[in-house]
Amino acid sequence: MISREERDLLKNKIIDDIKLLKKRIEDTESFSDPVSPDNSIGRLSRMDAINNKSIFDASLRNNRNRLKLLEAALNNIDDSEYGICRKCRQPVSVDRLKVRPEILFCVTCM
Ligand SMILES: [Zn+2]
Repeated sequence: MISREERDLLKNKIIDDIKLLKKRIEDTESFSDPVSPDNSIGRLSRMDAINNKSIFDASLRNNRNRLKLLEAALNNIDDSEYGICRKCRQPVSVDRLKVRPEILFCVTCM
C-alpha cells in the first residue's frame, strides 16, 4: 500500500520527470532536423549525420513514449489502481515506483 507521503513524493517526481523530458525532447528535436545533402554540417559527413539522426529519432521516440506514460501516471496517481500491477494485480514496490513512477507492471510481469 502506498502511503499519502509516498504518493506526494511520487507525484512530485512525476512532475519533475515530465519537465525534464519535455526539455530533452525539445533539445533532441532541434538537433534532428531533416538531413539535406547540401547542408554544411562541419566535419560530419552526410553518413554520420544520417546515423546521428536515427539515434536522435530513436531517443525521441523513447522519450515521447515515456512522456505519455508519465502524463497518464500523473492523472492516475490518486486512483486506487495506481501502483497496482496491471497484469497480476499485486502492488508494485514503492522503491521501483520511485525510480520509474510511470511503470504499470511488477518485476515479475515486466
Ligand atoms: Zn505483476
